[in-house]
Amino acid sequence: MRLENQNLNSNRLSTGGVMVTAAVVYFVTARLSLLLAIGNTNATSVWPPSGIALAVILLWGYRMGPAILLGAFFANVFALKGYGLAPAYYLTASFTTALGNMLECLIGAWCIRRFAETENPFNTLKELFVFIIFGSLLATMVSASIGAGSFCLATGQWPVASQMWITWWLGDAAGILIVFPIIMMLKNKIVQTIRGIQSIEAIIVFVILLISSGVIFGYNYQIEYVIIPPLLWIALRFGRFYSAAAVFLVSGIAVLFTISGAGPSADPAAQKSLLNLQTYIGVISVITLCLSVLTHNRRVAERDLKNYKEHLEEKIKERSAELVRANEQLVTYIQNQDRVKMALSESEKKYRDLVESANSVILRWKPDGSITFFNAYAQKFFGFTEPEIIGRNILGSIVPILESSGKDLSWLIEDIVSKPEVHAFNENENIRKNGEKVWISWTNKPIFDESGSITEILSVGNDITKRKKIEESLKRTLDDLAIAKERAESADRIKSAFLAAMSHELRTPLNSIIGFTGILLQSLTGPLNKEQEKQLGMVRGSARHLLDLINDILDISKIEAGQLQIISETFDLRKSIEKAVQIISPLSDKKNLSLHFKIEDNVSEMRGDQRRVEQILINLLSNAVKFTDKGEINLHCHFDNYSIILSVADTGIGIKPENLNIIFDAFRQVDTGIARAQEGTGLGLNITKKLLEMMGGSIHVESEFGKGSTFTVIFPIKEQ
Ligand code: ADP
Repeated sequence: MRLENQNLNSNRLSTGGVMVTAAVVYFVTARLSLLLAIGNTNATSVWPPSGIALAVILLWGYRMGPAILLGAFFANVFALKGYGLAPAYYLTASFTTALGNMLECLIGAWCIRRFAETENPFNTLKELFVFIIFGSLLATMVSASIGAGSFCLATGQWPVASQMWITWWLGDAAGILIVFPIIMMLKNKIVQTIRGIQSIEAIIVFVILLISSGVIFGYNYQIEYVIIPPLLWIALRFGRFYSAAAVFLVSGIAVLFTISGAGPSADPAAQKSLLNLQTYIGVISVITLCLSVLTHNRRVAERDLKNYKEHLEEKIKERSAELVRANEQLVTYIQNQDRVKMALSESEKKYRDLVESANSVILRWKPDGSITFFNAYAQKFFGFTEPEIIGRNILGSIVPILESSGKDLSWLIEDIVSKPEVHAFNENENIRKNGEKVWISWTNKPIFDESGSITEILSVGNDITKRKKIEESLKRTLDDLAIAKERAESADRIKSAFLAAMSHELRTPLNSIIGFTGILLQSLTGPLNKEQEKQLGMVRGSARHLLDLINDILDISKIEAGQLQIISETFDLRKSIEKAVQIISPLSDKKNLSLHFKIEDNVSEMRGDQRRVEQILINLLSNAVKFTDKGEINLHCHFDNYSIILSVADTGIGIKPENLNIIFDAFRQVDTGIARAQEGTGLGLNITKKLLEMMGGSIHVESEFGKGSTFTVIFPIKEQ
């Protein structure tokens, strides 16, 4: 707040200071200007205070008006006092004159601001004319009118009024013309910088100006306008300020010489010399100022033009570069477009060739069924030419309404259009132009428009007539085969049933043969000689073998006829093992083979068919004894989490790897080179395997030829 006040104060102070200074300067200049008065009059050829006043108003504002008023008032008071007037008169006259001076500069300043729209009216001819006409010629009329009027009123010298008015007017105008430009240009720093050779030129021209002015005015040559060329020279070469200064200089010299009574403007009649001088000053100042402003304008225009040209060149360069870039882009774009077009037309051609040369039926049709495209292959295949088929409905032309099987196809077209996804692939009977029925496998693809509705359907079809025929004959064959199989199976069942019945019938007489030969051999019916004993032994052996064979065949037959029942009961496995070992021991003893068995503690009861489990065990143990000549047989049994594992290992003849697979087949005995066929039926392992499979178990063999074999059976543990 205080700071603002301080600023305000300092502003006021400085405004006040400027006002006081302006008033003092006006006063002093006015007093000095009176020294320029011609003879002992108060009339001066130029009135520089007017120029100063106008400059003060334009530079510091209208508020400087009172300062001018004050300065002028005191200057006038001093001047009028000498006329011997009463104070009231000369004070009033001084005040009104000062008022005129103030109004003159206020009006001039206002006009310049208003019409030239600047405070420094030396940039264009328009501004300059506004300054000359309004600021210098018109505004000064106000001051002249008020000043001359009040002077005449105060002094009563009305006869000189008109002359006085003109002198006053032109004096003020000349004062403004020569002083105001210098002040304004200095203040606005429009002083051209002069350097080097140009400063020598300037000195020369100013010297010429001074000398010629001195000569013209000092020696009273009537050639005062000779001064114009050097002034023009200055205006053309050194700019506005030096022009204004030159005018000021020449005017000063002219005034000085004229008031001292010399020079061409001097005239015995003071009034005339004033007028001459004022006209002279007016002309040279107006001409010089005009020319300097014109020159300035031309320079500015040249500079602008140069800048513009440079700018234009830059712009042209930029634009050219942009154009080149755009052109390059355009070329690239066009090339790309060409490439794209070429690629497109190539791919179109490829596509067309592909479609035309494809060994498939390719057609397009509208949702109403009408055909829009029919490729060459389709035409050849169906026997229709393009004009014959395009526009026709699929149904009734290439799709029969009824298939040979009687299947109705009339719904097919509608169904494909409404549910294209269901009919992406379909096979149906088709018809050629000649009525021949063909089968085609179709791929249907709907083509949608932008709104998502189907515009057409593309169907690609392959002839599957041959395949269909093969399929049909294959189906027929399969049907025949199924019937044949059924027949064979039933024959097999009859055979198995017959075998089962037959085996049963055979066992009864065989058992009596074995029984009665046993009685004979035990000599219960009387003593037998050695030969009889031998013969009867052979009978009993053959009968036993036959019984074994029949038993095995019976089992096989029952299994294959599906008549063998596996019962599920809980029994003590340990006891079964011991029982089997007991049965086989006499055989192993006979061959001097040691038979060991190890039953782990966790082995206890199992669920299954006890008789069949024992049959399997006996079979494995008897094989082991049968195919082992020396060494030992080891039976091992243990339970694990899910199964019962039982193995029989021997140190017998072993099995060659290539025979491992065949030993489980029925009637397969490995040829060991020894006549063993008598000792077995070749059915034991086959029956064992089948029984195990029926129980959900399995059998595996590991063997090393010449060293021994290990047969392992696995029974699943069944929950009770
Ligand atoms: P076979 O009545 O001949 O014993 P199997 O079906 O029981 O009929 O056995 C088929 C064949 O498997 C046998 O002829 C024999 O060649 C071979 N074989 C079975 N067990 C053994 C074994 N422990 N050691 C060596 N060969 C064996």
